[in-house]
Amino acid sequence: GRTFYSVAYNKASPISSSRSELNWGDTTTYVAKKKLQAWCQLSNGNWELGTIISSSQSESILSLSNGGVLKVNNDSLLAPNPEILNGVDDLMQLSYLNEPSVLFNLQFRYSHDLIYTKAGPVLVAINPFKEVHLYGNQYIEAYKNKSINGPHVYAIADTAIHEMIRDEVNQSIIISGESGAGKTETAKIAMQYLASLGGGSGMEYEILQTNPILEAFGNARTLRNDNSSRFGKLIEIHFSATGKICGASIQTFSNSMQSRVVQCEIGERSYHIFYQLCAGAPESLREKLNLRIANEYKYLKRSNCYTIAGVDDAERFHLVVDAMQAVHISKNDQESVFSMLAAILWLGNISFTVIDNENHVEVATDEGAQTVAKLIGCTLSELKSALSTRKMKVGNDNIIQKLTLSQAIVTRDALAKSLYASLFEWIVEQINKSLGIGKRHTGRSISILDIYGFESFNKNSFEQFCINYANERLQQYFNSHLFKLEQEEYIQDGIDWAKVDFEDNQDCLNLFEKKPLGLLSLLDEESTFPNGTDLTFADKLKQHLSSSPCFKRERDKAFTVHHYAGEVIYDTTGFLEKNRDLLHMDSIQLLASCTCRLPQMFASRMLSQSVNAAANPYKSSGVDSQRLSVASKFKSQLFQLMIRLGNARPHFIRCIKPNNSQLPENYEQGLVLQQLRCCGVLEVVRISKSGYPTRISHQKFARRYGFLLLDNVASRDPLSVSVAILQQFNIVPEMYQVGFTKLFFRSGQVGLLEDTRNRT
Ligand code: ATP
Ligand code: MG
Repeated sequence: GRTFYSVAYNKASPISSSRSELNWGDTTTYVAKKKLQAWCQLSNGNWELGTIISSSQSESILSLSNGGVLKVNNDSLLAPNPEILNGVDDLMQLSYLNEPSVLFNLQFRYSHDLIYTKAGPVLVAINPFKEVHLYGNQYIEAYKNKSINGPHVYAIADTAIHEMIRDEVNQSIIISGESGAGKTETAKIAMQYLASLGGGSGMEYEILQTNPILEAFGNARTLRNDNSSRFGKLIEIHFSATGKICGASIQTFSNSMQSRVVQCEIGERSYHIFYQLCAGAPESLREKLNLRIANEYKYLKRSNCYTIAGVDDAERFHLVVDAMQAVHISKNDQESVFSMLAAILWLGNISFTVIDNENHVEVATDEGAQTVAKLIGCTLSELKSALSTRKMKVGNDNIIQKLTLSQAIVTRDALAKSLYASLFEWIVEQINKSLGIGKRHTGRSISILDIYGFESFNKNSFEQFCINYANERLQQYFNSHLFKLEQEEYIQDGIDWAKVDFEDNQDCLNLFEKKPLGLLSLLDEESTFPNGTDLTFADKLKQHLSSSPCFKRERDKAFTVHHYAGEVIYDTTGFLEKNRDLLHMDSIQLLASCTCRLPQMFASRMLSQSVNAAANPYKSSGVDSQRLSVASKFKSQLFQLMIRLGNARPHFIRCIKPNNSQLPENYEQGLVLQQLRCCGVLEVVRISKSGYPTRISHQKFARRYGFLLLDNVASRDPLSVSVAILQQFNIVPEMYQVGFTKLFFRSGQVGLLEDTRNRT
């Protein structure tokens, strides 16, 4: 008979199945007889598959794997998938796309070292935190000649390269995820594959050698990842018409990466290169730079962490030198880079002496000051006056103001930070010169983006604000791509597209970008007011933005943004200061007057940015007028990125961190679930579900279910058999669409037919 079960499945959950709407017949008896299973949520939030032992109209009692029993509301139960679907390599093959089913499927695969899974067009990669045997030449060969086709970064890179050649369309591989999720490793794995397929010119070797350099200068040990990238990176790899690598260019993004140079948390480290230099520099260089070991430098000493388990900094230093050689950074330039690094370290050791009772200071003539002056090429007195005084214009008079101790420290640290930021920028430029000279003819390229994902902590500050804004932009790109893919498939099969609803995140983007009343404009405006404070900024937001559906007022200096991935409360403390570029004109002039090449170049770059910025609406009456705010710079980098991506066909990889301890074989459901939400995997599922995610060709459908028909079907064509089956089983018309070649179902429908089939 037609006895289906009616344990009501939760409708409220964002991706629960729509099965609860179909309630066919008395099921309590069926439930009891068939030992029906269902997902139930335990008190710790984890989901477990329980067996229903009894069920009333509103409640069920389930037995759990640990022998316990649980009484739950029927509304909170979710449908599991049939066992044959355990560990499917595309989540879209699941008949029920609810959260526990998605979580369980990923966990099932992860526990078998299958760290890659597709979610429709997206590749999900779960960090194994151990060596898994999925890489290397054998695997590359296997993906190349298609003898394996499981989900893999190699498969994505392979598709990208083929589509680039076949369709003459640039491609992009967009990798996101939270800190420690495996983005940078994944990007390298993709590069490996591209280098192997497109190699031959030798250029691929140079491109791979950019990784150790950028990691040395841009990565650091943090509490969450021993090798955490503190910048985002887009590497665009150029190919010849025959698919051979012929060049590359790199764009980096950062909002406040340089703050780590002077300060980081206990147990974290500054950038790897400092420790590598201190540990690995040869004797002659040590003498020239007056180098000491790491713990003699105050900037490195503050966090009380000098080494990383399993990493030999001295050895890494030599690898970085080799890599710099490979990208044609001359010995001379290398030495200039190292002396800038040493100068930054010695800046931290400069001390001040208080000279009056107003706390004004003088720079002490110590080893720190002497070494810095020598390394950047200025006189001791020029350095001293730049760090302890400030030239000001009052009316028509130039006056010299003495700095207080705290002002002097801020000035010194700002100089160290901005030297580092300039150095990083300069290195990227050198790499680009080396990889790009005259090699950009065909216009074919594959770009790989390794960028921090959405962040939501207990305390969220300016950094999260910028990162989440970038992710909001990327999410829009992601949505519009998925939307387009779906639309194409529907139209091809003659399906009515209007029946599919998609949500977008335009409201949230408007909240950030609208002029003059958006988060970014108001931030820049307030940053330029001499009397602006974090509190006045927060008040302005509340005054002007409260009508936005994505904005919520909070108490004190806080506000909430409703992001696509959830609500985030931002604390405006420090926003204005972090948004202003704090390097004072005296410091820029000091660099400009140096005899060494790098500081001179850095200064002229800073000055030219100021001039360019004069045409920019960002006007300042603060310390350093006319320089771009940090948020504006970040926004303009982001727009450049979006323009580049706009010309390419994207492939998305979402990296997931299974636990916070960087341990193998350890899968924390709650943590994974939260990331699936943030990186849009559940969104993919939701988008597909809001349409008709299950697609089956008429042939296949007729073959599988045709025998259920009461009359003989042998002579009929598959399409009409399909329609007959649908009618016989009273599948409501809202639940499917009949295409030219396939049937399109709302999710959960096939599960129902499967149940009937299995019971017949
Ligand atoms: P961040 O945002 O902090 O830069 P990330 O997402 O770039 O983080 P990675 O540095 O790529 O994270 O990965 C962190 C660590 O996880 C690696 O150092 C490595 O130990 C491990 N790991 C990541 N992916 C893999 C993999 N495919 N196989 C083995 N180990 C991996
Ligand atoms: Mg990284």
